[in-house]
Formats: sequence, structure tokens, C-alpha cells
Amino acid sequence: AEPLLDVRNIDVAFATRHGPLLAIDDVSMSIAAGEIVGVVGESGAGKSLTGSAIIGLLDPPGYLAAGEIVFDGQRIDNLPANKMRRIRGRHISMIFQDPLTSLDPLYSVGHQLCETICTHLPLSRQQARAKAIALLDSVGVPAAAERIDHYPHQFSGGMRQRVVIALALCTEPRLIIADEPTTALDVSVQAQIITLLKTMCHERGTAVMLVTHDMGVIAEAADRVIVMYAGRVVEDGPVAEVVHNACHPYTRGLMGAIPSIGDDLERLAQIDGSMPRLSERTKACAFHPRCPRAMDICRQSQPPLVQLSDRKVACFLFTGTTGEAQ
Ligand code: SF4
Ligand code: MG
Repeated sequence: AEPLLDVRNIDVAFATRHGPLLAIDDVSMSIAAGEIVGVVGESGAGKSLTGSAIIGLLDPPGYLAAGEIVFDGQRIDNLPANKMRRIRGRHISMIFQDPLTSLDPLYSVGHQLCETICTHLPLSRQQARAKAIALLDSVGVPAAAERIDHYPHQFSGGMRQRVVIALALCTEPRLIIADEPTTALDVSVQAQIITLLKTMCHERGTAVMLVTHDMGVIAEAADRVIVMYAGRVVEDGPVAEVVHNACHPYTRGLMGAIPSIGDDLERLAQIDGSMPRLSERTKACAFHPRCPRAMDICRQSQPPLVQLSDRKVACFLFTGTTGEAQ
């Protein structure tokens, strides 16, 4: 079947005085309808940038330098701004780390929900309000019929993120891009929010791109996981296989100690060394300075992302130095 979202060989570059710097280098990924796909990697790996490229919100000097993005059978990377805005409001929703990015402090949450619903769905004010109350109730906001008239600051951080999930779902989108949706929350509520997001989306058949650096979140919520490193996809496969039997040495490092949700979020950084900076990237495997298995070839060329039986991997240990799978 056609994937719902198909990102094809995209490059994202930053214009600099010294010419373009490639931040995303030939990234392809797809998400099926109803699938929850975790995108994981260290900060700077290009996860959020990929999300921004998909929704057409790259901040200058960043720009899409190559590739295509196809959503629901339609190419969306070259749409006029007004058409893209409509897709963003209606069919692709976003959830950010800080709930206050999505909520306007000057309006009650009910006002914001009803505005969004009425802008995109053919409902009366009254119907929109009923839908908003039902949604708030289903995301676990107690006394939703009263609290709908409260303002964002009257909710706790966890409750606010529930409201944001309701807001993301209220137009019945096909895809939600959630970027670090629990990072700003108390450890005690992170698991609840992830479980809620997963349940709500599975029930509705909404696909989710879940951007996070937290392997615990991925293991809990995702159907499939895509691992990014230094602007490239290095592994992509079903979550159970990748978590329990990682191929790529970087993924293995990430899995070394799978934290449960809410554990120290800096755990990924425990792989010795650090990711090369944008300006330091070369034509080698970007992981080679940190890789316990690095070979000569790894310092000379970049391993292509190759399809194995149950996943894709970009590592010469698996693709062979001649490009054949071993
Ligand atoms: Fe390590 Fe080489 Fe594989 Fe890169 S290609 S991850 S350096 S073994
Ligand atoms: Mg990010």
C-alpha cells in the first residue's frame, strides 16, 4: 500500500557565507496510515529538522535543497504557502515539547479548540463545543464541561499537554508530528502522556511521527523506529527488532541501557565521544570516530542505507564493502 507520508531523498541545507552546509543528507522515510514511528537520535541528528521540512516550516537560513515529500499521494514540498497551511491545520497536526508553544495564554482552551474545529470542520459553534468537551474528556481532563472555559495557565503542565493532544486531534488529522512531547513534563506524568497519545492515535487510526531522544518513549509507544545520526538515517525497522537486536553500532550504543520512561534523558550521551559538528562532516561514516567496529572503508566512504530482511541499515558491517549484504 502507498504510505501516508513518503519522504524521498531529502537534503536540508543551511545557507552560510561559505556556501551551503548539509544538515540532512539524503534522508528517506515513510509512515503508513495509523502507524506510530519513533525518530530517535542525539540532539543535532536532524530529527526535528526532518519534521520541520515535512510540514514546510524550515526556519531560514535552512531550506529544502533536494528530494520530495509526498503526503496522501500528493507532493507537498512545493505547494503554495496557503495550501500548505491548510494541510497543516487540517490533516497534519503538531505537538511540541512546550505545551505553551501550541496554546495562546490569552484565550480559554475551549475558545482555541472551537476556533480550530470551526476553521476546518463543517460544524456549528454548538457542535464544536460539544466535540471539544468530549475530546477534553477523552484525553483525561476531569470536569471537562467546566474546565473548557479555563485558560492555559490554570492547568498543570501535564494537563496542558493533554489539552494540546486534544487540540492536535480536534481536526481529525491523518498525521501528528510530535516533537519531544514529554521532555518538558514532570517525570511522573511522562509515561501517562505517551500512553495517552498512543491510545488516542491507535483508536483513531492517526499516524504519528514521534521525535524524541528518549529510547524509553520509543520502546513504549512506537510500532517502528528510525534512528538518525549526523543528518542521516542509520537504522529503520520494527521497534521490537531494533530495540532487542540492533544492527548499527550506534543503535547498539543507544540500546546499551534502555531507560524506562522518565529516566535521565541524557542517557544517549553516554556513548563516548560526540557527533561531528555540521561543519566537520566528511564523506566517511559519520559514526567512525566513536565506532568500536570501524574499518578502513568506514573512514573513506559513507555506507548506503540498505534493505535487509527485516529492516534497513547503513553500516558496512551489514552491507559489505562491495555493497552486497553479508
Ligand atoms: Fe562503524 Fe563502519 Fe558501520 Fe560506520 S560503517 S557504523 S564506522 S562499522
Ligand atoms: Mg529537536
